[in-house]
Amino acid sequence: MKKFVQIYTGGVSGRNISIPQIEKKLDSMEGHKPDGIIVGWSLEKQIYSYLRDYTNKRGIELYLWFQVLSEFKSLGDFREIETIGGRRLRSAVFDGDEEFSFYCPSHPDTLHHLTDIFETYFSDIAFDGVLLDRIRFPSLAADRNALFACSCPFCMKKLEKRGIGRKEIEKIHMQVKERNSLLCIKEYKNGNYIFDSPELEAYLNARTELITDMVKALAGYFRTKGMKVGLDLFAPFLSLFVGQDYAALSKSADFIKPMLYRHTYTPAGMEYELEGMAGEMAGRMKQIIGMEEGRLTDFMEKELETAGELSSCEIYAGMEIHTVRELPSVSAWSIREGVERMEKRGCRGRIASWNILEASKENLLAFMEGEGR
Ligand SMILES: [Zn+2]
Repeated sequence: MKKFVQIYTGGVSGRNISIPQIEKKLDSMEGHKPDGIIVGWSLEKQIYSYLRDYTNKRGIELYLWFQVLSEFKSLGDFREIETIGGRRLRSAVFDGDEEFSFYCPSHPDTLHHLTDIFETYFSDIAFDGVLLDRIRFPSLAADRNALFACSCPFCMKKLEKRGIGRKEIEKIHMQVKERNSLLCIKEYKNGNYIFDSPELEAYLNARTELITDMVKALAGYFRTKGMKVGLDLFAPFLSLFVGQDYAALSKSADFIKPMLYRHTYTPAGMEYELEGMAGEMAGRMKQIIGMEEGRLTDFMEKELETAGELSSCEIYAGMEIHTVRELPSVSAWSIREGVERMEKRGCRGRIASWNILEASKENLLAFMEGEGR
């Protein structure tokens, strides 16, 4: 199984991470060599240069962790995401400097701004590949109205081609509100939902295409530069609600990293997202999708299997080896248990998420050791 580690250097303005600090953390792996390092997304070139040199000397791949539909607002004139009725969505900040406000995937300038940002700030470094993150609509945990984003004229034009206009979206909006049911969800099986509302089902499926089109274009751009492309995706059971279609997206990728976070109660954390989107019906939703109390590792394993079945590229499981400081920490025991399940499932890779600089040496070693322990 391949092993990748992620290093978070902070948002655009950085976190004043020093090179000796990174060096010390990499040394603490006691000779375990990762197959790849994924780093981003501050604009501090010296960090990338250092890591390129470090990885070249050791035959390790270097990936840029690149944000697609949020985080770079200050670097480009992006069009903010819209929801029906022109309402703006709530955004949130996590982990100090991670900013979750989103922009529209369909506006013709979005792609240009992103490639400009890459050219201006990152293209001097010979990265082997890129991990595309935030390729999604905002999650329902942040704002329930996110279900109806983006409904700007550019997105509507694409949806209308699939027979979904404002009238249809208003109708779905009413259905979801009136029935007061769990988003009309009836069943979840093998990564697919069946809804009580065929209109909602058609809309959610059509909406994924807005994200797929954007990713296809951006992945194509990086491919022409000879770079590999990885995708950071929500767990399969959450993906439809943020516009991610594993099967379609996997055609544009070398690997997918499903964020199968069992512990962290922050964005992309499986329980955090479920409880945020389902609210007081969280218990019912857990029942439908088969997430049993205290058995999140079993659920993770099932979702990992689903991700593999849906995708035509390799799956590198994303597992958190730390969480934000205010929350109970992740144990080395649980990391070992997670790694074992991934090995059992024949997973091709695993990614230590999302910042080894914040993880303890014990946790990092538990992640790196895995097989042959
Ligand atoms: Zn839009």
